[in-house]
Amino acid sequence: MATAVAPRLYKNYIDGDWTEPRGSGAIENRNPANSDELVGMFPASNAEDVAQAVQAAAQAYRNWRLVPAPKRAEIIFRAAELLVRRKEEFARDMTREMGKVLAETRGDVQEAIDMTYYMAGEGRRQFGKTTPSELPDKAAMCVRQPLGPCGLITPWNFPMAIPSWKLMPALVLGNTAVVKPAQETPLSVYNLLEVLNEAGIPRGVVNLVSGAGSVCGQALLENPGIKALSFTGSTEVGIRVSEVCAPLLRPCHLELGGKNIIVVMDDANLDLAVDGCIWGGFGTTGQRCTAASRVGVHKRIYREFLDRFVARANALSVGDGLDPLTDMGPAISRKQLETVIKYVEIGKAEGARLVAGGHRLEGGKYAKGWFHQPTIFADVTPGMRIAQEEIFGPVVSVIPIDGLAEGIEVANGVPYGLSSAIYTRDVNAAFSAMRDLHTGIVYVNAPTIGAETHLPFGGTKQTGNGHRESGDAALDFYSEWKTIYVDYSDRLQRAQIDTAGQIN
Ligand code: NAD
Repeated sequence: MATAVAPRLYKNYIDGDWTEPRGSGAIENRNPANSDELVGMFPASNAEDVAQAVQAAAQAYRNWRLVPAPKRAEIIFRAAELLVRRKEEFARDMTREMGKVLAETRGDVQEAIDMTYYMAGEGRRQFGKTTPSELPDKAAMCVRQPLGPCGLITPWNFPMAIPSWKLMPALVLGNTAVVKPAQETPLSVYNLLEVLNEAGIPRGVVNLVSGAGSVCGQALLENPGIKALSFTGSTEVGIRVSEVCAPLLRPCHLELGGKNIIVVMDDANLDLAVDGCIWGGFGTTGQRCTAASRVGVHKRIYREFLDRFVARANALSVGDGLDPLTDMGPAISRKQLETVIKYVEIGKAEGARLVAGGHRLEGGKYAKGWFHQPTIFADVTPGMRIAQEEIFGPVVSVIPIDGLAEGIEVANGVPYGLSSAIYTRDVNAAFSAMRDLHTGIVYVNAPTIGAETHLPFGGTKQTGNGHRESGDAALDFYSEWKTIYVDYSDRLQRAQIDTAGQIN
């Protein structure tokens, strides 16, 4: 159905005001389940808009860093309370702009709530260290210091959760921020900022500029006023982010692609494993950085597993995420759908056996959206492109394996290292896998998705650059240590390094 009323025109949020963009034009935000539905028009911000936002963040930083952390946390806590109150409304907005089913968008907002409460708690922690000095009448300690205005560039697949993972630790530590959301999902970040505004965040402490990555994102990246940059998105853009930050010696945090695997051993609870592979492979239409796009299955149970997995995938109901009967929503965009279709062709050409799905869904309730069938390839070999490259869609490659050693070799034989899982009832196999799977996250008897906010999140190899999001690990990126010595002896005391060999 076409939009009956004029679309809402959104603005940027700069220095505490909803601000008309200087950049010309606007970007349409359309429902991927129904391209007739215009969710809103969002600013196509340019470098001037970005400069204004960075300037506001730099100005606000002067005071915000001096606000006692527990006071900063009170505002963050209030924002969490407001998110709780508006959870359903924000989840519906998110389904309309992003497509994933309502149960999952509620989960996305819930993740933002959890992170916001968690980081409000950090207002009274942010523990430093005190330690004995090597000299008499001298104290030694170290404390966390904020970095300044942070640039936060976020993707579309977790439209509110990921921005909250970055914003809340940055703010509670005393940094200010400029957020650039994915152009596909600005509304969820708009909602998050609205809540912070209502919670009483001072002017300029958080700013939102929406627009295209190549213009607005690039301008934020290149602005020298940004003192730390956190990016979640594709490896390709992540490398570019790192190249721009390097000569500025600016800290940058990268959360990039994944090619995650579930290893199913011959002693696994098969029903549980199939449940996990369905959820891990097709949840969020396979568009999670932690999606289980590979399943390595022990040859002894291969046939039985495959039969059950295919039957369950074929039974999934694909449709509009607002319909409570829908299991799996559309792809985010025509471009993403085309990528999926391209990889299905690649898989067929490589000789993998297509055993479920494989086609775009068209006509009827699918006519106006970017829908694709849940798709499974069997008899995939580890070197095939469909087993190596991130597809970011509902396509799962099933790879036969001989045993644990081969399962781990296959698991680790990709350029990425975000998440992995093993289904087994053998404690020795489980502990070996926990040690040897080279990913930032490992699950035992659970799928590759489902991270909790109080534990570190991130990956190895091309998934990132060693930093972690979430939990107290996030504090390490958004702060730097300051070491402080206080000499109360009232005389010049030389440290050990300057008196080695000398008798006092
Ligand atoms: P993307 O790299 O296309 O875009 C991510 C963000 O970067 C967007 O806001 C985009 O506008 C911006 N951007 C694009 N070009 C830019 C440029 N030249 N300069 C500055 N900013 C620019 O990624 P996407 O399609 O939005 O998201 C999907 C990708 O994100 C997948 O690869 C997925 O694995 C990854 N991802 C990773 C994690 C993780 O935690 N590891 C989480 C979610 C998504």
